[in-house]
Amino acid sequence: MMTDQLQRFLFDDFEIRGEITQAHETFKQCINNHDYPEAIANTLGELLIATSLLTATLKFEGKITVQIQGDGPLSMAVINANQNLEIRGTARYHGDTTGLSFLDLIGKGNLMITITPEDGERYQGIVALEKDSLAACLEDYFVQSEQLATKISLFADSQATPVQAAGLLIQTLPASSETHEEDFAHVCALANTIKAEEIYTLKNDELLFRLYHQEEVRLFGEQPISFKCGCSEERCLSSLASLDAEEIKEILAEQESIDMRCEYCATTYSFKEKDLQILLTADNQTPH
Ligand SMILES: [Zn+2]
Repeated sequence: MMTDQLQRFLFDDFEIRGEITQAHETFKQCINNHDYPEAIANTLGELLIATSLLTATLKFEGKITVQIQGDGPLSMAVINANQNLEIRGTARYHGDTTGLSFLDLIGKGNLMITITPEDGERYQGIVALEKDSLAACLEDYFVQSEQLATKISLFADSQATPVQAAGLLIQTLPASSETHEEDFAHVCALANTIKAEEIYTLKNDELLFRLYHQEEVRLFGEQPISFKCGCSEERCLSSLASLDAEEIKEILAEQESIDMRCEYCATTYSFKEKDLQILLTADNQTPH
């Protein structure tokens, strides 16, 4: 079985780099227990792949959040990742999404990319979602924000067994005045011939050889991708701590426990009165 990973590659004869990724298992864990409609799940899968490609391209130590917001049936989709490609994601939607195109799903919307480095300043980039695919919108983002010609291909199939998600990025090197437009067009034209079935199942070296056997392509080591949600009982408790002891008592008087469901991994944390003694007694010590 193929494990989730991302690999960078470089064309020796052109000022062009690339990334190729498969993240079937991470995608599966993202949509597990959520019961998303097909169109929502597939968009979340594409966003997951896009975020992996961005994480490897934008180079930072810290966190990245890539979020879609719109006024259509898909009101919000978000992927969180870090430099180790530990990823989680979730989506909110309403109404019937059957057969809707990307733009019909989003309505009028934006894509927000937020990078929070461990050291240094937070960066935020926004691009209007106006093209008919997420990949095309991201290509616009790179042209607008970094002046880098970029081709992105995103694939996600939530209906397959097992589910599949993969992607490819081709980009001119930064500060390369040498990149010839025809070289980039040539590399992209070949990338366009990839079939979903090939990128889902072939090993990266096989796929790149199939596409670019006439070019010198250098493939770098694999970076593992994994699903990881940072939620925990402690985090739930600390968010409950923002409530007054009185409020907590009122809720517990009406129901046996306070249940909190993680939007990302769908884990439910259940707190009974005995689990919340610290919060209930801490307040008792607070002078009023
Ligand atoms: Zn979680």
